[in-house]
Amino acid sequence: MTDDDTADRAEDAAGSGGEADDPADAEGVSYLDTDGTDPARTAGAGALDDGDIDLDDIVLDEASDPDEASRGLFDDLLEGKPIFEDKEVLRPSYTPHKLPHREEQINNMATILVTALRGDTPSNILIYGKTGTGKTASAKFVSEELETTSQKYEVPCEVEYINCEVTDTQYRVLAQLANKFIEKNEAVIDRKLSALRTLHETAADSTDPDTVVADPDIDTGREGSFESVAALEERIEELEADRERFEPAPMTGWPTDRVYQTFFDAVDYHERVVVIMLDEIDKLVEKSGDDTLYNLSRMNSELENSRVSIMGISNDLKFTDFLDPRVKSSLGEEEIVFPPYDATQLRDILQQRSEVAFKPDSLDDDVIPLCAAFAAQEHGDARRALDLLRTAGELAERDQTDEVNEEHVRKAQEKIELDRVVEVVRTLPTQSKLVLYATILLEKNGVHNTNTGEVFNIYKRLCEEIGADVLTQRRVTDLISELDMLGIVNAVVVSKGRYGRTKEISLSVPIEETEAVLLSDSRIGEVEDAQPFVQARFDN
Ligand code: ADP
Ligand code: MG
Repeated sequence: MTDDDTADRAEDAAGSGGEADDPADAEGVSYLDTDGTDPARTAGAGALDDGDIDLDDIVLDEASDPDEASRGLFDDLLEGKPIFEDKEVLRPSYTPHKLPHREEQINNMATILVTALRGDTPSNILIYGKTGTGKTASAKFVSEELETTSQKYEVPCEVEYINCEVTDTQYRVLAQLANKFIEKNEAVIDRKLSALRTLHETAADSTDPDTVVADPDIDTGREGSFESVAALEERIEELEADRERFEPAPMTGWPTDRVYQTFFDAVDYHERVVVIMLDEIDKLVEKSGDDTLYNLSRMNSELENSRVSIMGISNDLKFTDFLDPRVKSSLGEEEIVFPPYDATQLRDILQQRSEVAFKPDSLDDDVIPLCAAFAAQEHGDARRALDLLRTAGELAERDQTDEVNEEHVRKAQEKIELDRVVEVVRTLPTQSKLVLYATILLEKNGVHNTNTGEVFNIYKRLCEEIGADVLTQRRVTDLISELDMLGIVNAVVVSKGRYGRTKEISLSVPIEETEAVLLSDSRIGEVEDAQPFVQARFDN
């Protein structure tokens, strides 16, 4: 092993490698979804975005219009006619009740899950598809329908949804499931208890204390009649003891075995079919391995009263490669694929949503087709399409026009793209930031299509300036490839004849904005005046 290798490994262990942003993290534009974290939406301009002010509710009285002199920040904005009827409908948190172009997938799911309504265990299902192909929306829709129907026919069937991006360890998944089922069991017990206590009161008043027949008007929840008041009292005590026995799992602290057992007992408390939906299951496996899936998939052989069926949803088509073969075959009994939407399908989705989201006639004819076309390029992502439409609407609102037009959509596309870049750059590891900064400095000094060696030289000086470790040139080459994959730089290999081959590197993102994000990092911000480094390059 050479010294270089050793150094590389040490650097990797020190974290720069491990932190390298997974391109999947940049998927969608989820940071746009969580208000407040969107850097472009801080304070000021954001106030109108949050839906706190409903423009409809404020009637502007012409006569009481404030003087020109006293016009405030919001007066102009309020004067424009509102464009949105209900902006929430365009946000990812909204679950639509109609999902055009997903009929086939939804029917497939239903055909498999209907088994649960017959009291049998449905096959496990694995759902695949890229982000924004409607997996979560379809799964939630199907689970709501399933629960409604099970109530209608009084078949005990329950669906539990877990988002594994949030709940990402075996412990947490099991604890969350345990506590949900404990809650449900407690509700069932409480219902029964209250019915039995009523029955007890009636029995106590009765002249013949030896027979207690369940009053058909009282819902005793599948409890039959009792031979004597004593038997009824015994049953009440039993239920009270059951209720005491359930102990919710804390969010940390117990041995995993105990959490599993708690969950197991809670599920098996009474007869039912349980469908567990694990959304973003690839994130769980990536972070915590496949133990959870292994444990869940072998439960049925031990459960006495209930049955469990798993529905896994994954954005990553290849994640089963990492699974234990037993888990893989059990989980993938049925597979359903969600293909990307094409532009025409995206149009239908947007059309349907826009009818609820916008006031009539607020969209120019080109708006929906253009949003659909942009999102179709973005691997057919419906989330992106809806984001674009919402952002275009917000931009039009800010322009105080009453119609969203093509130009607003183009601006929205730029804004979303820039927000994405800002977020990706902001979360890069420091070493990658330094490499990117070196590229920017070269470009700013008129060196376009620079090569790895030049980037490396500037990078090295930057590291020395701020006291960061200097990686090997080979490692820096890797970081450049990562930046290329993230779409931040463009690196092409060019042949230099007998001098071998080199990479030509150019920036693929707006230079000013990217530099600003880099300099907002406190370490990079320490580089006071970078000009001399680049200048030195020409002196060499
Ligand atoms: P995924 O889970 O595959 O990443 P989602 O189900 O979260 O995708 O869908 C992303 C967004 O697009 C959500 O706002 C969802 O409501 C919407 N959406 C996706 N498919 C459809 C569809 N067929 N009809 C209506 N809205 C859809
Ligand atoms: Mg999803």
